[in-house]
Amino acid sequence: MQLLTVRTEHGPRACAAWQGKYVDLNAADPSLPNSVKGLLALGAEGLRRAGAALPGGGVAFDPASAELMAPVPDPAKIVCLGLNYRDHAIESGMDIPAEPILFSKYATALIGQGAAILLPKESSEVDYEAEMVIVVGRGGRDIPVDRAMEHVGGYAVGHDVSARDWQLNKPGKQWMAGKTFDTFAPVGPAVVTADEVPDPHALGIRLRLNGVTMQDSSTSQLIFRVDATIAYLSKIFTLEPGDLIFTGTPPGVGMARKPPVWLKPGDVAEVEIDGLGTLRNPVAAR
Ligand code: MN
Repeated sequence: MQLLTVRTEHGPRACAAWQGKYVDLNAADPSLPNSVKGLLALGAEGLRRAGAALPGGGVAFDPASAELMAPVPDPAKIVCLGLNYRDHAIESGMDIPAEPILFSKYATALIGQGAAILLPKESSEVDYEAEMVIVVGRGGRDIPVDRAMEHVGGYAVGHDVSARDWQLNKPGKQWMAGKTFDTFAPVGPAVVTADEVPDPHALGIRLRLNGVTMQDSSTSQLIFRVDATIAYLSKIFTLEPGDLIFTGTPPGVGMARKPPVWLKPGDVAEVEIDGLGTLRNPVAAR
């Protein structure tokens, strides 16, 4: 199932893609929660009830005109892994990590399909990063690696927009600041539920900037895989339904190019992951 969040005048509405429409789940069955996070918290039973409600859904949005938010617009946490593709660590001139390198973004950075990435006045080196995002289903703490996949609710296409001058050149290297300017976490268009992603480590992942392919790799190249990442993170904090985990970017980012490539107003960035869809965002000045 593909779960989406549509912005309406009555607030965000959790929907599922069905027969070319986005069907409002809570309108189809008032016992279903009106958030993708709430639905994920119900696990397989929630998806079964949502699936059963779709044919009778009374409210449906036309994808051509619906405004999508990030599919989970209200996660408790957005956790990100840095340098999680071997070749990207090398192109960045950094060591291949022996343990996951972690930073975070805030929910104020989230935007959905089609919304503009806004370039802040405070940075002149804004870069792109294609990433697969794990969306947590069932929560947990101290999750063993061999049970970790049971805690995945689904996957989404993500874009870890990064102000390199803040991330790398401020005193102390301000990774978190450089990564969480408003609009720096595009996610979408949908959460594709885990039952529809048989192998998350075999997905082509690409980023096109103004139609030109800049990154082209596979999630097979991840250093820390989905199960290891969930097990590792859950040793530190409780994972909760709807938490978003950005899994790192493959090679080809703008800072590694000669000359470097920075995002500029008028650009269009597209991140495509096999089976998860294409996330398209224009770039504008803030
Ligand atoms: Mn990243």
